[in-house]
Amino acid sequence: MFDAPLFKDAFTQLEQASEVMGLDPNILERLKYPKRALTVSVPIRLDDGTVKTFLGYRVQHNMTIGPGKGGIRYHPNVDLSETAALAMLMTFKCALVGLPLGGAKGGIQVDPNELSRQELQSLTRRYATEINSFIGPNVDIPAPDIGTDGQTMAWFLDTYSQLKGHTVSGIVTGKPISVGGSLGRAESTGKGVAYCVNFAAQKIGMKIGSNTAVVIHGFGKVGVPAAQDLKSQGAKIIAVSDVSGAVYNKDGLDIDACSKWCKERRFLKDIELPGTKLISNDELLALETDILIPAAIDGVVTAHNCKNVKAKIIAEGANGPLTKEAVTYLTEKGAFIIPDILCNAGGVIVSYFEWVQGLQNFFWDLDQINGKLHDILKDSFDTVIECQEEYNVDMKKAAFIAALKRLDRAMRLRGLFPS
Ligand code: NAD
Repeated sequence: MFDAPLFKDAFTQLEQASEVMGLDPNILERLKYPKRALTVSVPIRLDDGTVKTFLGYRVQHNMTIGPGKGGIRYHPNVDLSETAALAMLMTFKCALVGLPLGGAKGGIQVDPNELSRQELQSLTRRYATEINSFIGPNVDIPAPDIGTDGQTMAWFLDTYSQLKGHTVSGIVTGKPISVGGSLGRAESTGKGVAYCVNFAAQKIGMKIGSNTAVVIHGFGKVGVPAAQDLKSQGAKIIAVSDVSGAVYNKDGLDIDACSKWCKERRFLKDIELPGTKLISNDELLALETDILIPAAIDGVVTAHNCKNVKAKIIAEGANGPLTKEAVTYLTEKGAFIIPDILCNAGGVIVSYFEWVQGLQNFFWDLDQINGKLHDILKDSFDTVIECQEEYNVDMKKAAFIAALKRLDRAMRLRGLFPS
């Protein structure tokens, strides 16, 4: 049933990390599969009057440390197995960065680019209705992911609140500020990626400045703020891409112009900017660069194309963009890999801040949010480095080991019911 490449990869990483650290097999046994999984039909009326049914999912992997937390993805590749893999990664991500949250994920198998705004609203409201009894502000809290955004969360919040008869602010994070969102949440994942790139650069003695070249695969909610942040530090963003293709300028791109183009015309395809060249996503991954940030989807750098990658730092902005074969090859070649559960954890960290602010109805300023985000990621980065050195493993395994240590402690203390 769980046969998606991402699930197999996460499962193998879990088994290998457990073996290296000597995790109790009885703890491992409980982490191999999700705690609960729900599949729902999401029928909606399209603008042309016909009815179409989409398949939706919500998976809760482990809730030992707290309520489930994880995004909602709208993408044609969404299925139960991929959603289960992403929920598992959320368990380890939340544990690694020390949040009182468990792992969950959801999604609908749909290409959101093919639906109108009204159709997307109907889809979101029906999906929220179908999964409403499975989630809750103290049970499982969704957020945006690929193909969803603040508007999706606002529709979700409204639907859930209508069903409960009062506003339930804590049901989702990643909300727009005007409906209870947090300052800094929209940029938080990309900002966290940029913080981690800085920690890695410091570790390998690279100075981020005007000679630092950065390539970004996936120019969305993660890729755009990561590009903006690194550019503000002086780095040259030489190429960015989306599903339609990539744009390249060896002297550095005007990131704000690229972002404006995408907002107005949806895709980077055919972008017209002086001095730029259109290239393919494959060509982008093979560019000569100091830093590569795969921030689109999973399984992008594989055994087939990892030999072309030349970056010194590879920051996994997306979940699972490097397959385990690619991680092994690139680590041996000397690249510094920042693992996904650390690198893109900025989003769930500020989601946690949003949830806490919503529960207290007391809101923090941006400096407080970014300061706390920085400190949590720095501590987590240092913990992963300690595990990497202690166990002599690659950064991906080290991050899993650090997360498993926290989970192991919590699962032992809570025990197994009935024992
Ligand atoms: P998004 O939908 O905002 O952007 C995704 C980008 O990737 C778009 O530019 C899209 O065109 C591009 N893309 C999609 N398929 C592609 C393909 N086959 N080849 C090249 N580009 C492709 O999504 P996002 O929220 O930025 O999420 C990106 C990744 O980051 C996902 O793996 C997601 O799980 C992960 N992530 C997101 C968050 C968050 O807060 N949004 C947090 C943690 C992890």
